Amino acid sequence: MTYQLETKLAQAGNRKDPATGAVSLPIHLSTAYIHPGIGQSTGYDYSRTANPTRTALEEALATLEKGDQGFAFSSGMAAVHAVLQLFRTGDELIVSEDLYGGSYRLFHQLQDRTGLVFCYVDTTDVEKVKAVISEKTVAVFLESPTNPLMKETDIKAISDIAKAHDLYVIVDNTFYTPVLQQPLTLGADIVLHSATKYLGGHNDVLAGAVITKGAELGEQFTVIQNSIGAVPSPLDCWLLVRSLKTLGLRIERQQQNARELAAFLTAHPAIDSVLYPGKGGMLSFRLNDASWVPVFLERLKLIAFAESLGGVESFITYPTTQTHADIPEEERERVGICGRLLRFSVGIEHVSDLQQELQQILDELAGGTR
Ligand SMILES: *Cc1c(COP(=O)(O)O)cnc(C)c1O
Repeated sequence: MTYQLETKLAQAGNRKDPATGAVSLPIHLSTAYIHPGIGQSTGYDYSRTANPTRTALEEALATLEKGDQGFAFSSGMAAVHAVLQLFRTGDELIVSEDLYGGSYRLFHQLQDRTGLVFCYVDTTDVEKVKAVISEKTVAVFLESPTNPLMKETDIKAISDIAKAHDLYVIVDNTFYTPVLQQPLTLGADIVLHSATKYLGGHNDVLAGAVITKGAELGEQFTVIQNSIGAVPSPLDCWLLVRSLKTLGLRIERQQQNARELAAFLTAHPAIDSVLYPGKGGMLSFRLNDASWVPVFLERLKLIAFAESLGGVESFITYPTTQTHADIPEEERERVGICGRLLRFSVGIEHVSDLQQELQQILDELAGGTR
């Protein structure tokens, strides 16, 4: 019997303890496990290598992304870093242009120190990706939708090209999650997440995830995860499993709210443009005037001016000074991350309360009555 995604989410991690019949997943704090005899193991030896609570999370992640194996990490950046362990000096990676700022910063550091080469391209344009593939290219690393400009990449089209050139396709699926997009079913080889965002969903767990297809990548990540050791604690694993249960419901509500607010913002005279791909709970918008940004952010009472996304609470972020501050201004302006751009992670609050707050502030700004 294969169940629908919502059913799998609700049941994630359940019934892992037949001895007691516990419904909720046990939290295994033990770091060491007794060997029944020489050469014998319960499957668990030492917690960095494997932990039963983490295994439940990793199995759930693999199932949700329709991959073969899941690997949990202590942060999204640890997951990104783990993926880069697959490559060696001189290898070239094609990378989406308006990338998460932290990934950009890591790539920049590694380029200097390890000789990996990162080639930034607008991955929404398949021809541009094709044009930069060289003999040294080993992978395409993309975010779809991009952050903060919310541009979607045709993962299937990129994967088809990648396959013809024997390249890995790696997708950071943090923004859409498997509820809205399953890159491995579109031809990608590796999916990664900042589980801190939608998968966690409550702004209380820092974690990352990698989900792979095929036995070879599975073996490689088993080694990488164990050798580096950037694994989440059993409690964090448990919190994530608990959060996954409501992922479908949360995203349904966040998306519904985001759609209504995108329409509201589009019609408001204080707004220059709204970037919303039509699905999901993330949108970005540009105010008409950059000098309005500080006032706008200071007046927020319900919506938090804070630097994360994907939680049940609404957050607004200013990419220029926060998430994307490490990208040189010239580069930011070139791709469209201007000083008037704000990123909105829409929460599960009642949409009328969110709209009312935005309307009050924007009316004042547009009317010049501040
Ligand atoms: C936040 C984020 C990351 C980094 O994850 P952390 O959990 O903060 O380390 C990577 N990619 C995207 C798209 C993100 O939003």
